[in-house]
Amino acid sequence: MPAEFDLIERIRRRVLARGDVLLGIGDDAALLQVPAGRQLVVAMDALNAGVHFPHGTAPADIGWKALAVNLSDLAAMGAEPAWCTLALSLPSADAAWLDAFLDGFAALASLHGVALVGGDTTRGPLSACVTVHGFVEPGRALRRDGARPGDDVWVSGTPGDAAAALALMGLGPVPAPASGIDAQATAALRARLDRPTPRIALGRALAAHAHAAIDVSDGLLADLAHVARASGVRIEIDVDRLPASAALRTAFDADARRLLQAGGGDDYELAFTAPPAARGALEAAATAADTAIARIGRVTGGDGVVARDARGLPWTSPRAGWEHFGG
Ligand code: ADP
Ligand code: MG
Repeated sequence: MPAEFDLIERIRRRVLARGDVLLGIGDDAALLQVPAGRQLVVAMDALNAGVHFPHGTAPADIGWKALAVNLSDLAAMGAEPAWCTLALSLPSADAAWLDAFLDGFAALASLHGVALVGGDTTRGPLSACVTVHGFVEPGRALRRDGARPGDDVWVSGTPGDAAAALALMGLGPVPAPASGIDAQATAALRARLDRPTPRIALGRALAAHAHAAIDVSDGLLADLAHVARASGVRIEIDVDRLPASAALRTAFDADARRLLQAGGGDDYELAFTAPPAARGALEAAATAADTAIARIGRVTGGDGVVARDARGLPWTSPRAGWEHFGG
């Protein structure tokens, strides 16, 4: 790519400074100082056009989301973010596109004090792959394998909004409502798809109280199934207790909402388990983190994930391929 160095220079100009970056963009590799007495936490997620974001997504939203989905993984580990790298594949050396991408990327990076310390820029189908690095106190990382029978199951935020936005575009697991919905609700749902909020402050606070955590990227029940498997427990979810946003309630009826909230994905909320004795501390931590949390189920002996509706009846998704969540 002839303009590769121009593009890299545009990226370098937008990078946040940190004292622990001894050498950032410009050499063969970055040189970073991990604080004494901390463990390094590393995660990587790629976003591919048409797979992880709809074609036509604004470049600033792609930039935001590429970092957000990675910070969400650090949040789910209870880690404090520090650095990231970016492998960018672009169909052409489009400087205006890159500047817009960087607007979204840098906005989120500065919110969380994350420095971009290196990467790779190549020609190819549109794709952004980010690696994030963060720190955690030794032994304090929130893992998937720590859930215990007797724990409560919690979720942050209002799951289902991102899947609802996809459904409104004809890309979701349920049809868009025939009646059409108002522009304000559509915009609110679309914002949740394009600009997910990584729950960093909540994840940090949870590290002291939760037994297990995961971020919801593939769908709440599917992700909780990972926790159940890793922990060797059964998870029961009260599907009608999942908190729904006003926009979701405006746009979809109860049946569609269950499907979107339990199975939708792309939420980047935290699902976690903690003992009932921690309820008060969790509520206080959530308030301090300015993030709503809700108790949505419990951990028992056994395996798998079971969902129940408000009458206590087993709820299974009508969507094919979900049998393994049924009880
Ligand atoms: P090399 O050939 O040594 O890998 P490159 O020409 O690929 O070097 O990159 C030059 C410098 O720019 C390196 O420090 C690299 O980390 C950085 N860099 C390249 N692309 C990106 C990117 N998309 N984001 C951040 N840094 C990048
Ligand atoms: Mg390189």
